[in-house]
Amino acid sequence: MKTLAEMDYSVLQQCMHCGMCLPTCPTYDETKLERHGPRGRIALMRAVADGEIKVTRAFGEEMYYCLGCQACTTACPAGVDYAALLETARAEVERQGILDTPKRDAIRWLALSLLFTRPRLLRLVGRALRLWQTSGLQSLARRSGLPNLLPPSLRRLEPQAPAIRAKFSHQLIRPVEKPAAPARRVAVLTGCVQDLAFSEINRATVDVLLANGCEVHTPPVQPCCGSLHAHNGDLATARLLARHQLDLFNPDDFDAIISNAGGCGSHLRAYGHLLRDDPAYATRAAAWDRKLKDIHEYLVEIDFRRPSAPQVSGLLPQPSPTITYHESCHLFHGQQVSAQPRAILRALPGVELRECAEAQWCCGAAGIYTITQPDTADRLQTRKTGHLLATGASIVATANPGCHLQLENGLRSAATAAAAPTVTHPVVLLARAYAAE
Ligand code: SF4
Ligand code: SF4
Repeated sequence: MKTLAEMDYSVLQQCMHCGMCLPTCPTYDETKLERHGPRGRIALMRAVADGEIKVTRAFGEEMYYCLGCQACTTACPAGVDYAALLETARAEVERQGILDTPKRDAIRWLALSLLFTRPRLLRLVGRALRLWQTSGLQSLARRSGLPNLLPPSLRRLEPQAPAIRAKFSHQLIRPVEKPAAPARRVAVLTGCVQDLAFSEINRATVDVLLANGCEVHTPPVQPCCGSLHAHNGDLATARLLARHQLDLFNPDDFDAIISNAGGCGSHLRAYGHLLRDDPAYATRAAAWDRKLKDIHEYLVEIDFRRPSAPQVSGLLPQPSPTITYHESCHLFHGQQVSAQPRAILRALPGVELRECAEAQWCCGAAGIYTITQPDTADRLQTRKTGHLLATGASIVATANPGCHLQLENGLRSAATAAAAPTVTHPVVLLARAYAAE
């Protein structure tokens, strides 16, 4: 694992200090302090690489105050690879252990080393959570005031936990599904949070691929993609999980490998870079990167069939429903997929797509940012939900489970229950439009 001092120095010195990234950076916008913006953070990383400053606690906290939203990368005229810099800087913070505390270590071990490396165990925990949520125990605990005994950080998070689905992806999707005369062969990645909390999005992804002539392979047990690990300084586990993915899916067997989650997809399409020094996997990882596609990107690439139903049923309550679209940072800034989800939404019969202000501004979800930086995450959530509600749309479409949850929670508290728009994924709407034909 390379340190900041060992990494390619040309990446570190690429910043020309122009400041064009600053107005796009949500954390700089919060404080207007140089160190809370990309230019300041890059200067800090370079100072560490040059041996001018040490990796201190303040440095570590700064690296985790960053959302990792990559808005600065889109804005940067010099092509600074901020994502690579941040990944290396956080890995160095973890290697030196400067933020370590018994509580933080325990949480990291539980999440990064235990749960998000064992998909069967994660599903077991999901089942237990579902039981808690649906058996009446959760509401009983809430009525009795039990959550008040929790530490403040957990008490705040308790109502925001995702509603676990009754069925996970492997109970909704067969390992191989094919239309009458398949023209393409694809694999679908079901994810971790998506599998537990939004398995219907995975089902809809398979449905739209089938409707467009694809034979779809969906292994019932899939490893985590490793994005959570890479974004939190655990590159060794991220590499291990990438190897597991490559063992499960041979890219040569498929026309495309499909991701429907912005945050996962942005990491998944960089396996070539992650495993570039691994002689056993480097070639396969490079082939994987070429095959990895976001679902919207792939549907537009194969010129998806436009649905012909007069109206999409179920999710669209009004005669002429209005939809607005929130861009997942890692789908837009990380994968440059922005026009394609809109092309899908515009293809829905009888629907108006109404743009919201700051559609590309981070909603504050940012992986585990709601846990590590709750106050900033709250302010970003409020700012986002205000813009979404101002459109008057009855549906908010987005394509990342973290954003999905953050928007649902924000809209639930900002709007009255009756007025809160439904949050969903563009492929769910497309699948419904096909089903309504
Ligand atoms: S990743 Fe986002 S929060 Fe971090 S420096 Fe770039 S724009 Fe700012
Ligand atoms: S836009 Fe790019 S080159 Fe300019 S200050 Fe920001 S990171 Fe540096």
